[in-house]
Amino acid sequence: MKIGVPAETRAGERLVAASPASVAQLIKLGYEVVIEAGAGTSASFLDAQYEEAGATLVDAATAWGADIVTCVNAPKPAQIKLLREGATLVATMAPHSNERLVASLAKRGVTALALDAVPRISRAQAIDVLSTMSNVAGYRAVIEAAENYGGMFTGQVTAAGKTKPATVFIIGAGVAGLAAIGAASSLGAQVRAFDVRPEVAEQIESMGGTFVDAPEAQQEISADGYAKPLTAEQQAAAMAVYAKEAANADVVITTALVRGTAPTTITADVVAGMRPGSVIVDLAASGGGNCALTVPGKTVLSDNGVTIVGYTDLTSRMPRHTSTLFGTNIVHLMALLTPGKDGAMVLDLEDQVQRGMTVAHAGEVMWPPPPVSVS
Ligand code: NAD
Repeated sequence: MKIGVPAETRAGERLVAASPASVAQLIKLGYEVVIEAGAGTSASFLDAQYEEAGATLVDAATAWGADIVTCVNAPKPAQIKLLREGATLVATMAPHSNERLVASLAKRGVTALALDAVPRISRAQAIDVLSTMSNVAGYRAVIEAAENYGGMFTGQVTAAGKTKPATVFIIGAGVAGLAAIGAASSLGAQVRAFDVRPEVAEQIESMGGTFVDAPEAQQEISADGYAKPLTAEQQAAAMAVYAKEAANADVVITTALVRGTAPTTITADVVAGMRPGSVIVDLAASGGGNCALTVPGKTVLSDNGVTIVGYTDLTSRMPRHTSTLFGTNIVHLMALLTPGKDGAMVLDLEDQVQRGMTVAHAGEVMWPPPPVSVS
């Protein structure tokens, strides 16, 4: 079967769904790969490198017309029209908020596999593009913070005097938060991190951070690894933690999410209590933001001189590595879907990983899937 990789067309997108290395691996699984000419240029992958890996360069319509089409972002209506009936589409689709897209893919007779609906169980980690994206975003948040902070993260002793290491406070220690802790520590900052899930303490310490322990603001150890909404008492205690830690920090990086929704952790009052020259990077900007003053997509300066970074394209700002890891996630998915390693995709809807991410199939909307058991 033929896998098509079209160029991304979302404004400002620099990612691509395959790297030359991932193309070579897809070919090893028995597939033929066609890629739109220029698709990898913004990620620093040249057409010649894809050709060397075994891909054929094609135009957009040919890439969209393949048996299996893989891309980063959900297709636009004009692109859906280019998909063949019976084709398989592998992309992020946000199916929970994109009913119309899923319905139109089902109507077109496309099998739609949503990369952002992969069940979050251990067995599926290798195909979890959300983890890939969170990891890169956490790292990039630190780079944006360092860029906007008018000082050095590491302490310095020079003939002209000493500077103190920067204090970085990280809210939320999931995949993105832990990556941010690791990146900020490695730049020499003193990193403190808080999460409502107490079980992350050890992980924070292992990445070089100090766990901010505040039992009155924290939940019981979670059964499924995810935070629940806080009670009013926990919320009040957590707000006191954010205010105190932010007032003492040079940089605050917020990554808090509860079931995909961003709680407000940094209110306007908390910003008002921060030092001039300090920086907030809000990783939840695209989902409404963890900071009340965040403007999605923009960097703004508060009245008291705090820079608030609300970029929503952090992964696209690291296109080479994000695309490399994304491409590898796709290879792992295709390996799962190609039991014979013979270039023939077989979808097994009895498998909870494959069923979980199938949002349209054989003319039917398949979203939401039945609940999965944790393993
Ligand atoms: P997430 O993106 O849902 O949330 C980010 C973090 O914010 C979480 O650690 C959460 O506890 C924290 N948080 C929520 N509200 C907060 C608040 N008010 N204040 C401070 N912190 C707050 O988290 P995630 O990155 O998806 O990771 C959650 C868990 O899922 C982790 O245990 C992770 O290891 C696990 N995970 C598993 C898989 C898999 O098995 N395939 C994939 C990814 C993540």
